[in-house]
Amino acid sequence: MAMIWDEVNQELGLSDDSEVSFHVANLDDLHQKHIRWLRTLPRVKPFYAVKCNSTPAVIRMLSTLGTGFDCASKGEIELVLSLGVTPEKIIFAHTTKPQSHIKYASTRGVDMMTFDCEEELLKISACHTRAKLVLRIAVDDSKSAIKLSQKFGTKPSVVKKLLERCKELDLEVIGVSFHVGSGCTDSLAYRQAIEDARHVFDTAVLLGFQMRLLDIGGGFPGKEGFQIQFDEVINEALDKFFPADSGVQVIAEPGRYYVDSAFTLAVNVFAKKVVMDDVTQIRGVYNVSIDQGVMMYYISDGVFGSLNCLIYDPRYRSIIWGPTCDSLDRVTANYWMPEVQVGDWLLIDNMGAYSVCCSSDFSFFDKADIYPVLSADVVEAQAPCALSSHIYLSLPYLTLWVRGGAVHK
Ligand code: PLP
Repeated sequence: MAMIWDEVNQELGLSDDSEVSFHVANLDDLHQKHIRWLRTLPRVKPFYAVKCNSTPAVIRMLSTLGTGFDCASKGEIELVLSLGVTPEKIIFAHTTKPQSHIKYASTRGVDMMTFDCEEELLKISACHTRAKLVLRIAVDDSKSAIKLSQKFGTKPSVVKKLLERCKELDLEVIGVSFHVGSGCTDSLAYRQAIEDARHVFDTAVLLGFQMRLLDIGGGFPGKEGFQIQFDEVINEALDKFFPADSGVQVIAEPGRYYVDSAFTLAVNVFAKKVVMDDVTQIRGVYNVSIDQGVMMYYISDGVFGSLNCLIYDPRYRSIIWGPTCDSLDRVTANYWMPEVQVGDWLLIDNMGAYSVCCSSDFSFFDKADIYPVLSADVVEAQAPCALSSHIYLSLPYLTLWVRGGAVHK
């Protein structure tokens, strides 16, 4: 292990005494996920949800692979355009947008955008008359970790009125979108939502709109080894409600599906305490059961940074703290893991989704760096020029490192 660590240090240009957390972004993993997507959902074109992780290497890689992009703000559109993506490959998928962002989209030729209420239509008709509108509907998100339909999406009872308002304002509606909630655990949620979308299509067609786009949103799980059989149900529902010969283009807005397993975070244990006495106090405060002592570790990333999750092979009851002075910054309260030493690093898998994008530098602790890596095989297979700015490691080496558990110098 020591040898691997030294080689990785050298390859990534890390100094021996570095204590700053960092991510390794395994772009090969993105490539594999994309191949799996094309194989399992052949009719659905992915528009990657930039909000999930806007690391430029991720955007470049996905752009090279040919995905579109779901942008939720002017900043995300700016980023994606600056990396060479063309405007027709972007959907502005936020239903409630600041007017200045709509104006920006208009000037940059980003026409496809979602809406779910009349107020939004008034803003759009004032500053983006060429907009190609996609009506987002509220759907059942009860089986998802993060529910979105309370905040976004039109209820069925107001769909017709809203579409009639589009007609009055002379706005073009081209499709329907939904989001079953992030971290969806039930593929049937997609089936029901696709059927709901069909009803909205029928209403819109009756009103004279040329409906040609169905956007089935995000929600697809992305952790390694966590497979959910969403593809069969989705394909079946698409064939039933939007058959291939209907001419309707189907897109999706996957975020965590693409990036979650690609990112591994390395955090440094920069301080440690073994607490042998006063354990009742710890039990009282942190609601954990402690019969012997407890190892307390202080690591270089925490809940104000990219962390909120799990570590490796349990042994000692351990409390792991993030680096800030805030006692809220506790990564785990009662976790069983091998004893580690100050200077060791902990590796945490599946860190790609909603981690780097939500990090702050609270109290001026460094945010984790990101080191994109890509194997030579993938570079050769996918437009070498577009990807040439990445660091290349050979794949077996990378796999060992990413899966290796806690790495000891
Ligand atoms: N599209 C929209 C409109 C979203 O709000 C989100 C996440 O919040 C996504 C796509 C991506 O969702 P996920 O990461 O679950 O695929």
